[in-house]
Amino acid sequence: MSNPMTNDQLTQWDHDHFFHPSTHLGQFARREIGNRIIKGAEGVHITDREGHTSLDAFAGLYCVNVGYGRTEIADAIAAQAHELAYFHSYAGHGSEASITLSRMVAERAPEGMNHVYFGMSGSDANETNIKLVWYYNNILGRPEKKKIIARWRGYHGSGLMTGSLTGLELFHNKFDLPLSQVVHTQAPYFYRRDDRSMDEAAFTADCVSKLEALIEREGADTIAAFIGEPVLGTGGIVPPPAGYWDAIQAVLKKHDILLIADEVVTGFGRLGTMMGSDHYGLKPDLITIAKGLTSAYAPLSGSIVSDRMWKVLEQGTDENGPLGHGWTYSAHPIGAAAGVANLKLLDSLNLVGNAGTVGAHLNNAMTQALGDHAHVGEIRGEGMLCAVELVKDRDDRVFFDAGDKTGPRVVAAMLDRGVIARAMPQGDTIGFAPPFCLTRDEADHVVSVTKDAIASVLG
Ligand code: PLP
Repeated sequence: MSNPMTNDQLTQWDHDHFFHPSTHLGQFARREIGNRIIKGAEGVHITDREGHTSLDAFAGLYCVNVGYGRTEIADAIAAQAHELAYFHSYAGHGSEASITLSRMVAERAPEGMNHVYFGMSGSDANETNIKLVWYYNNILGRPEKKKIIARWRGYHGSGLMTGSLTGLELFHNKFDLPLSQVVHTQAPYFYRRDDRSMDEAAFTADCVSKLEALIEREGADTIAAFIGEPVLGTGGIVPPPAGYWDAIQAVLKKHDILLIADEVVTGFGRLGTMMGSDHYGLKPDLITIAKGLTSAYAPLSGSIVSDRMWKVLEQGTDENGPLGHGWTYSAHPIGAAAGVANLKLLDSLNLVGNAGTVGAHLNNAMTQALGDHAHVGEIRGEGMLCAVELVKDRDDRVFFDAGDKTGPRVVAAMLDRGVIARAMPQGDTIGFAPPFCLTRDEADHVVSVTKDAIASVLG
C-alpha cells in the first residue's frame, strides 16, 4: 500500500473517533488501557500492526470457527460481490446464495424445523424471535401470553429486548433494563449452587422447582417462551447439570411455553455436534444462529422456525396481510455466500468432528495441568469450549475481590505469552473457545501457557 498510515497516527484517530463496544471508555480515553490494531490472521493466529502474533484461543468472540484466512470463503464473498453485491429479500425476492443457504441450514437443523429468517447479528435474530413469539400468540388469540423467561447468566445480545433477556448486571445497569416482559430464573450453574450438599440430580430438580415457582407466581397464561443457550456462554461457559434440558422441557410442555434455543455459540459444531440441540435432545420452536453460520467472515444471523410455528405465521398473514418485519440487510447476498462456503468447509474438513476430539483433549489436558491448583475452583467444558474458574478459596468457592481483577490479570499474562483467552464478564473465569481447526499440539500449548500465566499471577 502506498503512503501507509503509521501506528501512532492510527492510534491517535482511534482515541479521537472510534467508539469501541464493550469498552471502559474513560480508561481508553486516558490511555490506561491500550489499543491493538489487528492486521492479519491465518489458521488460529492473529497478527497486529506492531508485528506481534497471538494464538487466538477464543476465535475472535467464539465465532471464527473454521479458522482465519480461508480463501474458499474469501473467494465466495468476492465472487458474490462482483455478481450481485446486494438485492433485498422482501416480497419474495432473494439470491441463489440466500436460498441455497436456507436449504443447507434446514438440512442441519433438528427435524421439523424448515424455515429460516436471516438477520445480521445474534442480537437482531433474538429480537426477531421474540416478535415471532408475540405474533404467534396474538394469532392464536391469547394476547396475555407474552412474558419471556430467561436465565440469570444467560447471554442473548445487547439490544433493548435482547439486553433484557441477557442475565448479566453489566448489560442492565444504567440502561433501564430489563424490560418488564422479561423474567429471569436460576442459572443451571452446578458449581455455584447455594447448597453444596446437592448432587447434580438434586440441583437439576432445584432448577426445575424454581422454574415451576416462577411460572406459578407469574401465571402460565402470561408466559410465552423460555430462552436458553444449550451451554451458558458469556455467563461463564457452564454446561448444564445432568438431566437439565429434559426436565426443563417437560415443564415447558406442560404449560404450553415455547422454547427458544439460542445457538449463536453452539450452532454449527462447537459442541462437537452440528447443533447444541442435537447434543442435549432439545426440541425447540425457534433456534437462534449467528457466529458459526459464516464463521464471522461476513455478518449474518438467522432464526430457524419450527413447522408448528410456521403454520401459525402463515395463518397470521392470511388474516392480517404481509408480516411487518424485515431488515434492509436480511439475507444479504454477501453474508449468504459466506455462509454457503463456510458450511461446505465445515463438512469437507470434518471440522465438527475435530471440535469434538480436540476439544475433549483440551479439556482433559487443562484438568490434568490445573485441576489440583489451590486457586482453581472448577474446570469445565463441552466440545471446543473450556473454562477455568479461579477462586480465592477453593474449599469455600470464595470469589476474589472484583477490584483485584484476577481474571483479567491472568488473561493479560497469557497475552504476554502469546495466547488469547477471555476473562468472562462475571467472576474470574478464563474462557477458551478456539477455532475448530486447533491441533492437539496447539491445545497443549494453550494449556501450558494458561498454567504458566496462573502461576505468575497467583503462585
Ligand atoms: N446469543 C448468544 C448466545 C451470544 O453468545 C451472543 C453474542 O455473543 C448473542 C446472542 C448476540 O450476538 P451478537 O453479538 O452478534 O449480537
